[in-house]
Amino acid sequence: MNPQRDTLRELRFDPLRNRWVIIAAERARRPSDYLIEARAPAEREGRTLACPFCEGNEDKTPPEIFALREAGTAPNTPGWRVRVVSNKFPALRIEDQARRYGVGLFDVLSGAGAHEVIIETPDHTKTLADLPLPWVRDVLLSYRERIRDLFRDPRLRYILIFKNHKPEAGASLAHTHSQLIATPMVPPAVKQELAICRENFVKKERCLICDIIAQELAFGDRIIYQDEAFLVWAPFASAFPFETWILPKTHRHDFSRLSDEELWQTAHALRVTLRAMKRLLNDPPYNFILHTSPPAFARPGHPEYWSSIEYDYHWHLEIVPRLTRIAGFEWGAELFINPTPPEAAAEYLRREVSENMKEEETDAASH
Ligand SMILES: [Zn+2]
Ligand SMILES: [Zn+2]
Ligand SMILES: [Zn+2]
Repeated sequence: MNPQRDTLRELRFDPLRNRWVIIAAERARRPSDYLIEARAPAEREGRTLACPFCEGNEDKTPPEIFALREAGTAPNTPGWRVRVVSNKFPALRIEDQARRYGVGLFDVLSGAGAHEVIIETPDHTKTLADLPLPWVRDVLLSYRERIRDLFRDPRLRYILIFKNHKPEAGASLAHTHSQLIATPMVPPAVKQELAICRENFVKKERCLICDIIAQELAFGDRIIYQDEAFLVWAPFASAFPFETWILPKTHRHDFSRLSDEELWQTAHALRVTLRAMKRLLNDPPYNFILHTSPPAFARPGHPEYWSSIEYDYHWHLEIVPRLTRIAGFEWGAELFINPTPPEAAAEYLRREVSENMKEEETDAASH
């Protein structure tokens, strides 16, 4: 056994399933911690003094790493629009060394990484869908800046940004926020997508996602929304009802390299989508996940690793409303049963989008 091994926080590899698992014993969980009744009630209604993400409570979070704030205001004081802090109970920590060990036939990686919270607004009562366009843009700008910063750390192999909306989707605090987890290896779901895109490129010298976009624009029946810059799409083989992807029409592999103009366009497409989903499905719990390229460091023993990433991968945002529960069959088989065909989901959402946009135009005209 390696004497420096920190078993409180490490990644363990499952050779049978070919995937890593993060063990994060930040708080040693007792069985009673997992009982639903023992959990603090989710604060849903109104601003609470106890909420660490509310303006004025900046001292209740770890110090801020990044913020967009009014000129002249100091860090960790009011006056911010978006605020990024370390997660109080991190799955991985930036202070930890990246080391590899063997434990018998098993592989272990120490828990070097980062776990950050992006507080999307100081307003406790708003959801991301309620925010005006410039505020949504600020949230995406914060994502871009955090990825750019963490890309400089060669220990980090991937930076995943995601959002859990409502307790049913895994949010432990009601105040709207998203999260970032940087990992010392590429997470399994991303790795598989990256590998498939690269294989396709090796065979065809084309981007698979660009091909999908071209085809879906021609078919049309799974389009939820499109403008000059973006396609909002119900995937052909959606695993979940109302699963929705936001895809840039122009080939781009790396979210962190988006221009300011592209951030505005992304914010618009995201806002249109979230508002339609909120109205159509009565503010459903949802997760979204940003899939973008990993930092393209050369790796010892893998000179070919990300050599074509610029051409073969295409960033996108995947949104999954949590309307059904993942049960035994789905867990055991990794075969999902989706009761709403994506063509029907697209039609409902498409109608909602156009109604919302008409209303917003009328509102804007009457002010
Ligand atoms: Zn709050
Ligand atoms: Zn592409
Ligand atoms: Zn993806």
